Amino acid sequence: MNCGLCEDEAGERYLCERDTRALAGRLADLPTLYDEVGQCLVPRGHGWGEIVATRSGAGPRSPLNEDVLDTVNWGRAAEVVHLWRVDVQRERWPHHGAPPPADLRADCRWLAMELEWVVARYPAAGDLAREVHELERQARSVVGDPAPRPQRLGTCVAVDGEGVVCGAVISRMPGQSRLQCRWCSYVYESERDWLLLLHFQPAESA
Ligand SMILES: [Zn+2]
Ligand SMILES: [Zn+2]
Repeated sequence: MNCGLCEDEAGERYLCERDTRALAGRLADLPTLYDEVGQCLVPRGHGWGEIVATRSGAGPRSPLNEDVLDTVNWGRAAEVVHLWRVDVQRERWPHHGAPPPADLRADCRWLAMELEWVVARYPAAGDLAREVHELERQARSVVGDPAPRPQRLGTCVAVDGEGVVCGAVISRMPGQSRLQCRWCSYVYESERDWLLLLHFQPAESA
């Protein structure tokens, strides 16, 4: 079969490996992305007519108008994803009733958990992937592409007076070169600090 999205050969499946992985990633990211959309576009005053950007320097932004708010928002993304969930569930378990109303986060998680089945058995997998991709594209047109995201570096290796390692999660924005541990206030700044951080990571998180 050919991939329902990119038309590449996909073996026995409705989506190729690459698009399956991309869809899984998008389902995982979508709720966070739409959270960010909500932070970028907020109504000022009491009318939808006066939309202002709340952040500056976040990257390219769609024109701030009612069309954007009508089409790119949490509610609409939730609606689209929920309809897919309803359909997948009906195909997979025809005897079950419709799924309960859920939010975007829960529906994305549900679809992600059913992804194996979707890719193997659901002929509309390509359309699902296309609409999820479109939701992502629209959100990114508002929040910037690619949106800057914190990178998880590992856990804090600073040692306190009693010899106890801090262990708090350390993450930074791309390009950030100075960072203070939010838990113990240790500052990572020099190259040596970063090397120590990487060197002393517990094996399982390295
Ligand atoms: Zn593909
Ligand atoms: Zn720390």
